[in-house]
Amino acid sequence: MTPDEFRRIGHEVIDWIADYRERVADFPVKSQVEPGWVRDRLAALPERGEGFDGLLADLDRIVLPGTTHWQHPGFYGYFPSNASLPSVLGDLLSSGLGVQGMLWSTSPAATEVEQHLMDELVGAMGLPERFLGGGVIQDTASSAALVALLAALHRKSGGKWRQSGVDGSETVYVSSQTHSSIERAARIAGLGEQAVRSIAVDDVLAMRVDDLAERIRSDVEGCRKPVLVCATIGTTGTGAVDPVREIAALCGEHGIWLHVDAAWAGPAALCPEFRDLFDGVDRADSFTVNAHKWMLTAFDLSLFWTAHPDVLVDALAILPEYLRNPATESGAVVDYRDWQIPLGRRFRALKLWSVLRWYGLEGVRDHVRGHVELAALLESWIAADENWELVTPRSLSLLTIAHKNGDETTKAAMDRVNASGDAFITHTTVNGRFAVRVAIGAESTREHHVRALWDALSA
Ligand code: PLP
Repeated sequence: MTPDEFRRIGHEVIDWIADYRERVADFPVKSQVEPGWVRDRLAALPERGEGFDGLLADLDRIVLPGTTHWQHPGFYGYFPSNASLPSVLGDLLSSGLGVQGMLWSTSPAATEVEQHLMDELVGAMGLPERFLGGGVIQDTASSAALVALLAALHRKSGGKWRQSGVDGSETVYVSSQTHSSIERAARIAGLGEQAVRSIAVDDVLAMRVDDLAERIRSDVEGCRKPVLVCATIGTTGTGAVDPVREIAALCGEHGIWLHVDAAWAGPAALCPEFRDLFDGVDRADSFTVNAHKWMLTAFDLSLFWTAHPDVLVDALAILPEYLRNPATESGAVVDYRDWQIPLGRRFRALKLWSVLRWYGLEGVRDHVRGHVELAALLESWIAADENWELVTPRSLSLLTIAHKNGDETTKAAMDRVNASGDAFITHTTVNGRFAVRVAIGAESTREHHVRALWDALSA
C-alpha cells in the first residue's frame, strides 16, 4: 500500500469508524450470534491481494453481528472498556509511526513521552512522590501484578531469586474478592496455588486485617516467607475497598511487598473528592490503574507505578550483546524492556497522551463524576423501590443489586434486560446471593439510558 493509497483508504476507514460510533446505540448491545456463526461465514484466504472494499463489507456483514458493543450507551457489564475516539486516533498514530520502544535508543520519544505522562499523573492523581520516576505503561493489570510479584520475590530473597528462583516457601495474600490475576501470577511465578492465602472479608467484602495478621503470623512461625499482599481499591465483584493503610502497616512490619490494584476505580483519584478511597497508597510498593477501563483509553493500557524501580529492573534486566548500546551503558536512560515481561513494546503512551490532551484533566474528571452521579441517581430510585435493594453499598459508579423475591426473580430480570438488546448487565454472587452488577461507565451513557435500564429491570 503506497502512502497515497493509505490516504484514500484511510479516509474510508475513518468514515467507517465514525459511522459505526454514530449508530452504535442502534445495535443490540450483546451479540446475538450462536457459536460458529462467524467462522461459517469466513472465506478462505485469497492467493492474490484483493484491496480493502471486501474487508469493509465483511465488517458490516459478519463482524458487526458478531460484536458485543462495549461503546454502546447501554453497556453496563463487567467494567467499562472505554475506547474514546481521541484514543483511537492516538493508537493509529502509534501504529503509523511503527516504532518499537524496547530501549531508549530504539526511539527516545517513546520512552520520554511515557516517563513524562507517568510523572505528571503522579501529581494529578495525588499519588506519593516516591512513585516519581517509577511509572511505566503495561499492557494489562495482569501483567502489572506479575511484574510486581517478580520484584517482590527478588527483594524478599535478598537478590537471589534472579539466580536461584523460588524455594517453595514463599506465600502471597489476597482476599476472596481479589482479582484472579494475582493467583495466576503466583502460578506463573512457579509458586503454585498452594502459596496463595485467601483472607476473609468483612460484611462489606473488604479484606479483614485481623485475619491477614493471623495468617502472616502463622506462616512466619511455620518458616514460610510472606512475599506480597495484594490490596484492592474497587474489587471486581462489588467495588469493595480494602483497608490499605492498615494492610500497609502490617506489610511494613514484615517486609512484605504491598501491591495495590485499582484497575477499575483508579481514575477516581483524579477527583479530590474521591481521594479518601486511596488512603494508604502512599505506603504501597506498587500501584496499578487501567486507563483502558474507565479512563477513556482504548484497550490495552495499564498504568503501573512502583516505589522501587531499581528492584524491578534488577529482577528482570538481561543485556545480550545485540542490545548493547552507548546510552544503556552510560546508565543515563531508562530502557523500559526491563520493566515488563516482553522485550518489545509499542508506543502506547501516544494514545494516553491523545486522551489527556483532548479532554484535559478536567474532562477526564467530568467523565468519572458524571458516571458517579448517574449511579447515585439509580441508587436513589432503588432506595425508593419496594422490590429491589442494594446488596452491597454503592461503590463510585458500580451498584450490586437484587430483587427481594430471591435469586430466580433477579436472574429472570437480568436475562430479560439482556435479551432486549437495549442494555447489557452482568452478575456476581454476594454471600451466596445472586446479584446484578450495574457498572456505569460508557462514554455515551446519559440519564435517560439509566432510566430506561431501571424501568426494564423493575418492570
Ligand atoms: N484487577 C481488577 C480489580 C479487575 O477488575 C480486573 C479486570 O476486570 C483486573 C485486575 C485485570 O485487568 P486486565 O484485563 O487489565 O488484566
